[in-house]
Amino acid sequence: MAFSTLTAPTIEPRHLILDLQSLGVRLSDAPASLSARKGGAGPTDHKAITIGDRTVMVPVFTGTARVSPFAVEAPALDGTALLTHNGTPVARIKYPRQARFYALQTFDGIPYWKIAQLHGADVLATTVLQNCIRYTDRATSCQFCAIGQSLAEGRTIAHKTPEQLGEVARMAVLLDKVKHVVLTTGTPNVIDRGAAVLCESARGIKAAIDIPIQAQCEPPRDHGWFARMAAAGIDTLGMHLEAVTPSVRARIMPGKATVSLDRYFDAFAAAVDVFGRGQVSTYILAGLGDTEEAILDACERLTALGVYPFVVPFVPVSGTPLENAPPPPPEMMKRLLPSIGRMIARSEITSATMKAGCGKCGACSALAGFEV
Ligand code: SF4
Repeated sequence: MAFSTLTAPTIEPRHLILDLQSLGVRLSDAPASLSARKGGAGPTDHKAITIGDRTVMVPVFTGTARVSPFAVEAPALDGTALLTHNGTPVARIKYPRQARFYALQTFDGIPYWKIAQLHGADVLATTVLQNCIRYTDRATSCQFCAIGQSLAEGRTIAHKTPEQLGEVARMAVLLDKVKHVVLTTGTPNVIDRGAAVLCESARGIKAAIDIPIQAQCEPPRDHGWFARMAAAGIDTLGMHLEAVTPSVRARIMPGKATVSLDRYFDAFAAAVDVFGRGQVSTYILAGLGDTEEAILDACERLTALGVYPFVVPFVPVSGTPLENAPPPPPEMMKRLLPSIGRMIARSEITSATMKAGCGKCGACSALAGFEV
């Protein structure tokens, strides 16, 4: 990765991204932009910044970010801004421009930015159902999740219809050169666990524009859904473990943990049969309580199956029960990611070979830089 303008970065580029994603950054004067996200699913309380040739999501609204050694000064006239570490210049960064499609609205008057958001550099991402059976009850909700916040604050709508998604995706491709789509969902029931609404959504998008789509949901009870999802135009599938140790899963996500690790691994194997090796992935949030050994063991098992383990540092989101929990120390990510990157490379399921999705985008983790 090349850094612009500064003679030499004082921190190794991959480690700089990793440090920023664990510690966050203080912004002195970022341009008002919808590219900063507060609440919701996915990379919440983050802002997209471009360092060298990579756009990454960095926490900016979290408690940790407010006391981070990293700070960004006000942008210069050329749009770049100085990133400092304890006051020492580290690199020049840029804020990606606001997506052009954000200025549009649907025929029924819904602003496009409430339907889908630009993630990273070229991903259109949306939560098709902004409700989840597990969310309203703290006895079952995932403690890191903020899926209801953006809905409560009127920054999104509860259900994005297939027609709305198709309309927004088409314009995001035409105006903003979006390259792939990520569809996630709250869990609407314990039968298909979101697979049905994801199929409808994918059909709506593919009817409007030919673009690779990743869908993300819990494992449906019936593995026949994987073939139905592929037939609906879903190219890759994410089923997110978040944590890999039964006791950690039970503590952090008591509802979702009722779907056991064995069920997940059965579903991974069945999904790889349909979508192919490297086209099925999972999110693992390092820092929720799993040991490094447990994460590495899980990644060995996943990569052997052909499942891409997208390991990201946990970011405590304001307004959630874990808002004051510490993020993982950067040293933990520095130990984990090189080993996991080698497993991915050895299994020939690198992010570059993925057709769509978080692993391909890579903005929430420095992992792709370690796939050698
Ligand atoms: S990695 Fe996934 S969640 Fe993160 S910015 Fe990219 S598409 Fe969004």
